[in-house]
Amino acid sequence: MSGMHEEWLDLRSDTVTRPGAAMRAAMLAAEVGDDVYGDDPTVNLLQEYTADLFGYEAALFAPSGTQSNLLALLAHCGRGDEYLVGQEAHTYRYEGGGAAVLGSIQPQPITNQPDGSLALADIAAQIKPDDIHFARSKLLALENTIGGRVLGLAYLEQATTLAHQRGLATHLDGARICNAAVKLGVSPREAVAGFDSVSVCLSKGLGAPVGSVLCASKPLIAEAKRWRKMLGGGMRQAGVLAAAGLYGLQHQYARLAEDHDNAAYFASELAKLKGIKVSTPQTNIFYVDLPPDACRGLNDVLQLTRIRVSMAPHLRIVTHLDTKRADIDRAITVFGDFFG
Ligand SMILES: *Cc1c(COP(=O)(O)O)cnc(C)c1O
Repeated sequence: MSGMHEEWLDLRSDTVTRPGAAMRAAMLAAEVGDDVYGDDPTVNLLQEYTADLFGYEAALFAPSGTQSNLLALLAHCGRGDEYLVGQEAHTYRYEGGGAAVLGSIQPQPITNQPDGSLALADIAAQIKPDDIHFARSKLLALENTIGGRVLGLAYLEQATTLAHQRGLATHLDGARICNAAVKLGVSPREAVAGFDSVSVCLSKGLGAPVGSVLCASKPLIAEAKRWRKMLGGGMRQAGVLAAAGLYGLQHQYARLAEDHDNAAYFASELAKLKGIKVSTPQTNIFYVDLPPDACRGLNDVLQLTRIRVSMAPHLRIVTHLDTKRADIDRAITVFGDFFG
């Protein structure tokens, strides 16, 4: 094994990608200015481009998806308001409770269905009447993809229509909305129809090193921009980062299908092995159930063969820009040797 695989094969997440030569060239060439003054032409271009791509009036570049989601929650909701959200949702579970901590916004979690959706009846049942006993139900937040699963357009239309009919606004955590759109075979605009705001990650499958974009109406973006400054997210010559995001959207969007194909191939090969249960990926993420006694040994073998996966709470594999078919074949062999 010595010296054979100096590079780690990193399957923990699609956040691990490194900008390639062309993206770095775009970063190097980026025109910049002070974005807190609104003077960075490349940030402005990224915001206009993304707003147009997803069919919104305006957009705002943020340093992370966590902040972009938080900006949306703070812009939609005030103190004593609540937002309806999935138990498994990133905004609820993996963002440090930011909406509650920083916004005094109460989450109303709802159990996700096996397909990742929130049942319409559960949404309807959790919308509170106007009564002083209750927090004010203000917003429905969904996530697409969620754990790699794609929510379909018909469901999204029903859920957003229900929310709007009951007077709630709608936000989409679209960290991986590009994966969803590619999988559904629809335009980015169609994929976010019905949502008053969407947060799009540039640093996941699109391969940029940093950043997310929040898209919404002009007034909502103006409000989000105030919060971004307060949270310390106002950046100066951020055009070097925006250029990477723009490059990702323009040149590394369509290739997401390759990540999906690679995940499908990878999972179908692993599924042939005895003793493990492999989920069927819909996009670039899948899960493997291991026998409890196999975890430690597999970990050691993966360490030795320089392969990284997420092991907690269960084995998760994510394909991305930097996983080629040959890498996957190598990983399949390692798994095959271990479980064979
Ligand atoms: C990655 C991710 C985010 C944002 O994460 P950051 O690391 O803060 O950029 C938000 N939602 C989902 C579903 C994600 O996967």
